[in-house]
Amino acid sequence: MAKKTTTQRIKAAKKSKAAVPKSPRKRAAADKQATHGDVPQWTEAEVEEAFRRFQSVDPAPKGELKHVNSFTLLVAVVLSAQATDAGVNKATPALFAAADTPEKMAALGEVKVRNLIKTIGLYRTKAKNVIGLSKMLLAEHGGEVPRTREELEALPGVGRKTANVVLNIAFGEPTIAVDTHLFRVGNRTGLATGKDPFEVEQKLVQEIPEKYKLHAHHWLILHGRYTCIARRPLCEKCIIADLCKWPGKITLSA
Ligand code: SF4
Repeated sequence: MAKKTTTQRIKAAKKSKAAVPKSPRKRAAADKQATHGDVPQWTEAEVEEAFRRFQSVDPAPKGELKHVNSFTLLVAVVLSAQATDAGVNKATPALFAAADTPEKMAALGEVKVRNLIKTIGLYRTKAKNVIGLSKMLLAEHGGEVPRTREELEALPGVGRKTANVVLNIAFGEPTIAVDTHLFRVGNRTGLATGKDPFEVEQKLVQEIPEKYKLHAHHWLILHGRYTCIARRPLCEKCIIADLCKWPGKITLSA
């Protein structure tokens, strides 16, 4: 069965008779409050309990970007900046069928890459970066994706978040990539408040128990994408609703 869209999930949640939603104005005010870090912080026991629940529901969460090897993962993550995974996944099968190694990508050339990814936002810059990073992998890393943050971040189009995703998925490092979803969930819930993604990442790294770190990024991104949705969080269906500190939380009537 096809996955529900965000709009369909929100509509289904609204039909829940037990849900007592705050008005959009109150929710917006609550988000503003949370953005300023003005929500209670979580205790160690609450953090442990949240991740215990995430793990019990989804023991081995996976990222949603299509890829066939660590190089195509790197390219897919670069393409996903300011774009949705679904949008990237529409373009990459044809791109990776044409080029799934740095050699093939460099040989394909910027114009052809641009044409293959033109449905993705910022495609001109991204095509340039994909060719640039392919050439750099060939020139400096023997055509392999490097395993250190410094080497990854030196590649064109690769920032801290992209490096964290690649280190986590390709190399099994317990890194936590803070994207728009993690940033919102961290601040909104009070789990990890911060004024920028780096601050939220540092807090998550500090407070998440080691045993949950490998999958924490995926649990939180999926939670933000499908449950703690920006415009209308589905608190009625949320498995950490009792732990969440968001003042705009949608509650259930008795
Ligand atoms: S209860 Fe759940 S869905 Fe609602 S704001 Fe908190 S974390 Fe998000």
